[in-house]
Amino acid sequence: MRQLMFAAALLLGLSLSMVSCNSRQQPVSENPKADIVEEAVPQIEEEAVDTISWTYDDAEDTVMIGTYVFASQPVPEEVETRMRGRSFPDNAKISMDQLRYLTLPYYDFDGNIQKGEMVCNKAIAHDLLCIFRALFSQAYPIYSMHLVDDFDADDEASMQANNTSCFNYRYITGTKILSRHAYGMAVDINPLQNPCVRGKLIQPSTAEDYVDRSKDFPHKIDKDDYCKKVFTSYRFRWGGNWRRMKDYQHFER
Ligand SMILES: [Zn+2]
Repeated sequence: MRQLMFAAALLLGLSLSMVSCNSRQQPVSENPKADIVEEAVPQIEEEAVDTISWTYDDAEDTVMIGTYVFASQPVPEEVETRMRGRSFPDNAKISMDQLRYLTLPYYDFDGNIQKGEMVCNKAIAHDLLCIFRALFSQAYPIYSMHLVDDFDADDEASMQANNTSCFNYRYITGTKILSRHAYGMAVDINPLQNPCVRGKLIQPSTAEDYVDRSKDFPHKIDKDDYCKKVFTSYRFRWGGNWRRMKDYQHFER
């Protein structure tokens, strides 16, 4: 059975219109990490192949590692149904056509491979496939990766659940300014260990143990963190570099 699935996944991978992460022009001038990432891809054991059983019929872009497929497709109807009235309000100034649904294998905090999903802007879909492929190649631990709609698009609830996510049509807290998340142009990674800190305000509110960044603890994103290096090599800005507010979980374009 496993061999069959292995072969099927291989065939599928070959038949899909695959775009390599290498073929894109990478901004290597300030950070050559993107190239290093490609070289660092290890052999993946076949062991967990059948833990991933997505279908890729509508995939328009894929990258692979071993037999694992990182795919992007137009937002499927059932996903759109989940999003409408939650992360995607009626008055959204972005159309569903501009968004893509990504399926992304990842390693969880216990080192097990899980199925992740994410909605993002079409403009960064390919780069996110490459970024999450790079994170996978290093077994970079991610706690959970579900759409915010599973939390009723409540950002605080999603962050408290330590959920990694991207699209959510919402404003920057305490302002009338749309967040880059509203355009699907920002990703939050492991938000519990990497809170957003503005003065006394901590988001999520349960993250007070992780506000002091001079402390050493697992899953901390700092300037030397692999995830930070990969994102910035794809021209994402990191919220941990901001002056007035520190948003350690946040990467945006
Ligand atoms: Zn964010």
